[in-house]
Amino acid sequence: MEPFETVERDVLVIGAGGAGLRATIAVREAGLSCAVVCKSLLGKAHTVMAEGGAAAALGNMGEPDNWRVHFRDTMLGGAYLNNPRIVELFAKEAIERVLELEQYGAVFDRTPEGLISQRPFGGHTYRRLNHVGDRTGLELIRTLQDKAVSLQPDVFMEFTVTRLLKDADRVVGALAYNRQSGGFVAFRAKAVVVATGGWGRMYKYTSNSWESTGDGAAMALEAGAELLDMEMVQFHPTGMLWPPGVRGLLVTEAVRGEGGVLRNSQGERFMFRPEYTPERYRGKYAETEEEGAGWLTDKANFRRPPELLPRDEVSRAIYKEVRAGRGSEHGGIYLDVSHRGADYIRRSLPSMYEQFHALGDIDITRQPMEIYPTIHYTMGGIRVDPDTCSTTLPGLYAAGECAGGLHGANRLGGNSLTDILVFGRRAGEAAAIYASSAMQGALDEGPVSAEMDLLLRPLSATSGENPFHLAAELQEAMQQGAMIERTEAGLTACLEKVLQLRERVEHVQVEGSRAYNPGWNAARDLRFTLRISEVIVRCALARKESRGAQWRSDYPGFDPEWGRKNLVARLEGDTLHVETRPLPSMSPELQSIMEEAR
Ligand SMILES: Cc1cc2nc3c(=O)[nH]c(=O)nc-3n(C[C@H](O)[C@H](O)[C@H](O)COP(=O)(O)OP(=O)(O)OC[C@H]3O[C@@H](n4cnc5c(N)ncnc54)[C@H](O)[C@@H]3O)c2cc1C
Repeated sequence: MEPFETVERDVLVIGAGGAGLRATIAVREAGLSCAVVCKSLLGKAHTVMAEGGAAAALGNMGEPDNWRVHFRDTMLGGAYLNNPRIVELFAKEAIERVLELEQYGAVFDRTPEGLISQRPFGGHTYRRLNHVGDRTGLELIRTLQDKAVSLQPDVFMEFTVTRLLKDADRVVGALAYNRQSGGFVAFRAKAVVVATGGWGRMYKYTSNSWESTGDGAAMALEAGAELLDMEMVQFHPTGMLWPPGVRGLLVTEAVRGEGGVLRNSQGERFMFRPEYTPERYRGKYAETEEEGAGWLTDKANFRRPPELLPRDEVSRAIYKEVRAGRGSEHGGIYLDVSHRGADYIRRSLPSMYEQFHALGDIDITRQPMEIYPTIHYTMGGIRVDPDTCSTTLPGLYAAGECAGGLHGANRLGGNSLTDILVFGRRAGEAAAIYASSAMQGALDEGPVSAEMDLLLRPLSATSGENPFHLAAELQEAMQQGAMIERTEAGLTACLEKVLQLRERVEHVQVEGSRAYNPGWNAARDLRFTLRISEVIVRCALARKESRGAQWRSDYPGFDPEWGRKNLVARLEGDTLHVETRPLPSMSPELQSIMEEAR
């Protein structure tokens, strides 16, 4: 058998984004030893890319905001597929977590009165996004990292975990390889927290970083945990479109929050067309451009413009405009914020100014941007208990973008940065409680050996396919078949391709050694993206309705029957099963909050 090192700690946290770092803080504050593992360098997780802000109902802007309105907005944005208890905990605790972050040292933008400044975002009734210019993720990671490092966890940077290890049903550790040396490490832990983020990389155009290959969700599924509502993949309405090399890069929603407008090739602000405002949002948005313009300076007396509808609605509208032949020069839509003036733009949206200037040679203080929807976020994920973030497997916890249940069929902007704080902490605390009374489990060398063999196979193969080519074929297939508009025929063709690629991945070959070998890394990542792609497509085929991010043009509109069901995916052997489960019920208090809106 290949040699491997063993590392033993009370708790293993896989992932050092916001969720993983907040979980690590909770574990160390409970006095337990903790190993935290990440694929890149500490501080480089996907969270660092977050721009617009973290949503929490602080009510600093003179508007009557509170957790109840945040709860309602999140349920409405999620098209009621959310787990109400998860949303309740989230909306209540987001406030404490943002204030705690400030105590840790985060320097938020300020109101003239010295309070944390909050900006408007799609689907939020009031100004609710606590922000640091358009670099909020950077500040969040910096602060959490400082706090976590001060508590001295053991950090394993540039390690990729590839398999969870079990003792009977219980998760007792994980196998990883060192990306620098190629050496193997088996982590032994009384409890494991998965905080590995989302999975945009199986699509061709995405705002996600290279790390977002769905490893944690795939490993949890393979270990026997359940995945929830995996068909719900968010298309952010505004990704960069031109030049081709940067296509998919995010253009933050803060641009529209700061007054940016969407126009088609005829100069029309098409979001004002009544057909783009769904019934449940009627009456809540401005109906004329004048009213929308008034909102910029007087939020109390004017309604917000429909460019700030939730992301699924705006993405579909853009898609339909382009399909109708009203697209921009390169097949997208124009986003224009130049009317806010150069000083204001440079101060409020410094990253956007630089991004377009450096990558597209466009001055957004004078010219419109060309945008098109891009794969951005994954609402589905590992099914967890709302209060403890425990999965269906003893000893296994999940938090952050890799977990499901909070966002339902569509996430509101800003809700992820507070999600990772609220549930990162809860997962870390619950894992620490479990680990405090558990013994270390037995580490079975059989699965360790099998996983090392699987990892090494592409390097020892004398012939075979290139993993990068297969990854490109997968991205093409998912972009074509499992995009914004989905149909039975398109999804079926996509599934066939994914299954065919799952056979071909058994025969990939990679040159070189294990040290710093991108081809070797890609070969294992590909197994994760293929596994998750199959789940996405099978769930999208199963849900025969349109809701949130799932737009089935062959089943348009909400179906009340489907509105009462979540989809759960699990493995039996290597066979994937997708089944429906009734939505969790809502407490009378939460029901009354929803009633208030009617
Ligand atoms: C450009 C952009 C802008 C955004 N802006 C906002 C915003 O303004 N507001 C908002 O609320 N949300 C925003 N989001 C979404 C938000 O940033 C993410 O959902 C959130 O940061 C996810 O945090 P996380 O801790 O769950 O995972 P991540 O930050 O993705 O971290 C995952 C961690 O897991 C590690 N990992 C993954 N796989 C493995 C493995 N196999 N082995 C070991 N380690 C592994 C990674 O290395 C990383 O450390 C934005 C997203 C993008 C892409």
